[in-house]
Amino acid sequence: MPRVPALRNRLKDTPVAGAKRVLLAAPRGYCAGVDRAVIAVEKALERFGSPVYVRKQIVHNIHVVSTLEKKGAIFVDEVDEVPEGSHIVFSAHGVSPAVVQGAADRQLDAIDATCPLVTKVHREAVRFSKQDFEILLIGHHGHEEVEGTMGHAPERTTLVNSPADVPNIVVNNPDHVVWLSQTTLSVDETMETVRLLRERFPNLQDPPSDDICYATTNRQVAIKKVAVEADLVIVVGSANSSNTVRLVDVALEYGAKAAYRVDYASEIQQEWLDGVVTVGVTSGASVPEVLVQEVLDDLADAGYGDVSQVVTAEEDLMFSLPKELRKDAEGNADERGLGGRVRQLDWQKNR
Ligand code: SF4
Repeated sequence: MPRVPALRNRLKDTPVAGAKRVLLAAPRGYCAGVDRAVIAVEKALERFGSPVYVRKQIVHNIHVVSTLEKKGAIFVDEVDEVPEGSHIVFSAHGVSPAVVQGAADRQLDAIDATCPLVTKVHREAVRFSKQDFEILLIGHHGHEEVEGTMGHAPERTTLVNSPADVPNIVVNNPDHVVWLSQTTLSVDETMETVRLLRERFPNLQDPPSDDICYATTNRQVAIKKVAVEADLVIVVGSANSSNTVRLVDVALEYGAKAAYRVDYASEIQQEWLDGVVTVGVTSGASVPEVLVQEVLDDLADAGYGDVSQVVTAEEDLMFSLPKELRKDAEGNADERGLGGRVRQLDWQKNR
């Protein structure tokens, strides 16, 4: 994304009591599911031409959405806004079977970019529902992923929005309940909710594997390590990105004196830097690295040019393209693996 020149050098290099530095959390930014979903829209546009419709934001990042809009994607809230016979992409957050049916009813050519780790939770919901479990789904009311998961077992799922909900949950058989969760929650808060649920339902069954995904977990672990040393943490990402907002919460919980979320570097306020020696920087799982680079550029203007990366994990998970896009128009296979695209940044090249 080209930078707006007028926005450079807004931040002043004011003296502080120590050597200014940046601790850059790793992993950060794009996860494999986001990478796959964004490439799915790009590839659909290449293959079918504009417009390609996308139900909801493909991933929760305003920069990604506006970039794809410029390339010809049209974002809609529901399938009934899409002209019959069009191409539609379902977002990384997943959809309920009712949405899939709605698209089929309109003869839409659907491309399912649901993250495979969300699909895994959908399958768990279906399986436990068939076994007559009551499902306690820990997640945020109104989040698209939660709506999609609940839609796979609507009769048997109760949403647990926060630990405060636990005393009021009503189930038919307290000995046949299982908990599942949204993939992008705070690990610590979710474990606290599970602890409270287990106090109420001692025979509560766990999911077969963690529903909170590797990317959410890894980004939280990295920012915890950064936060203990940071006077200020800047989290790049959008307000509706659940995993981004959790990174702000986790940073504050783990010792950052202040933590703010920004979509763009231009939102950083001079007063946030007053007396700050160490700035921690991270980004949510739907954030392209170029936006982090811009934050680092602005911080360098303010004297924070010394950047060290704090690495707590290496990520190598890859997904294949949605099956509808694995072959091009000539029938040639595209079996490449898609992971969080790690690009070499300017600050790395110069060091
Ligand atoms: S945050 Fe996790 S669940 Fe969501 S798209 Fe990324 S890998 Fe998939």
